[in-house]
Amino acid sequence: MAAQINTQKKKVGQNIKVVVRVRPFNKKESRGQSRMAVNCISPTEIQTKDKKYCFDRVFQPDCNQLDIYSYIVEPMINDVFAGYNCTVFAYGPTGTGKTHTMIGGDPSSLSSLDWRRNEKAGCIPRVATNIFDEIASRKVNDYNVRVSFLELYNEEIRDLLNSDKRRPPLNIFNDDKGAVFIQNLNEKNVFNSNDIHELLKQGTLRCQTNSTHMNNHSSRSHTVFTITVHIKEADLNGEEVLKTGKINLVDLAGSENIAKSGAKDKKALELANINRSLLTLGRVIQILTEKNNRHVPYRDSKLTRILQDSLGGHTKTCLIATVSPADSSYEVTQCTLEYAMRARDIKNTPMVNEKVTQVEMFKQLTTEIEELKRKLEA
Ligand code: ADP
Ligand code: MG
Repeated sequence: MAAQINTQKKKVGQNIKVVVRVRPFNKKESRGQSRMAVNCISPTEIQTKDKKYCFDRVFQPDCNQLDIYSYIVEPMINDVFAGYNCTVFAYGPTGTGKTHTMIGGDPSSLSSLDWRRNEKAGCIPRVATNIFDEIASRKVNDYNVRVSFLELYNEEIRDLLNSDKRRPPLNIFNDDKGAVFIQNLNEKNVFNSNDIHELLKQGTLRCQTNSTHMNNHSSRSHTVFTITVHIKEADLNGEEVLKTGKINLVDLAGSENIAKSGAKDKKALELANINRSLLTLGRVIQILTEKNNRHVPYRDSKLTRILQDSLGGHTKTCLIATVSPADSSYEVTQCTLEYAMRARDIKNTPMVNEKVTQVEMFKQLTTEIEELKRKLEA
């Protein structure tokens, strides 16, 4: 994973965007004749029996995948091509539609081409298609698109694009500029949207295999799918510059992993190392919104280390909170809405990544090659 350097180009504080998606009743809820515990009273407001919450947008149960994509992710494509980093988090209890929102459909039964025609396709397959549409419409000839896909389970990072069955946990470290690297994480070159769809499918299948072998694996693991775009374009002075932007699509562990236990048991959970990352994410959000300059414990978990820049940093960030409409889930729904409300107060200062000229890029690559040589010789 290559280092990213940010410039002081645009320093405008921007609250992270927070939206809520309420899924339809599932079969079990319908059979049990569940009642609605939430009411979407306007495009930005959701009402529970206790409280009214206001978000950037509230998506009702009948909204479709395109509605979500068009509001949240599509505008980020321009940002990625302008050189920004963007992150979308899906946060919510297990079974409320995080993976449905991010991936959608059933990746194992779809051939790559089907994604474009499939209305169930979630944000990742759609963004893959649109990135290459954008490259074509901008007539960019010189570009490089890369994809990485990782899973974080029990504080161990594994590469979902590694076909080796053993998939050893990967180390994470910061360089002298503070940028985060994940050692040996595959960043696959992709040449069209089908390549991305294929990698998504392979990685998702590996993730599902883990789930069948380990109890509650999928509800406790986080996945981060990242698409990085390098393009070479002429700037206003006619000088050629390289721009780098990226988008992280994050499917978080089920929020019931912290919500159910309540605040009192947090310590116990932490000791058991169950979702340290989700707990730390909550703490980071809490401290970032207190505005009292307390130390932000990004380094306390792998997830917050990897995505530090997305929270209070220079990234354009959106959090999608997914909830069930049913009264049987009321407690976890309320915890999720409270968490999401808190996240609304986080301010990021999005900045474009430094535009690197070819000479600088060449220097950077030479240094990276030298470093790799040294490691090989060691
Ligand atoms: P999570 O990843 O949050 O655990 P999933 O995305 O796996 O939840 O969703 C659980 C089930 O509910 C899946 O079968 C999924 O297809 C379905 N589902 C979730 N959200 C929606 C939605 N908005 N519309 C239709 N079905 C949905
Ligand atoms: Mg899921």
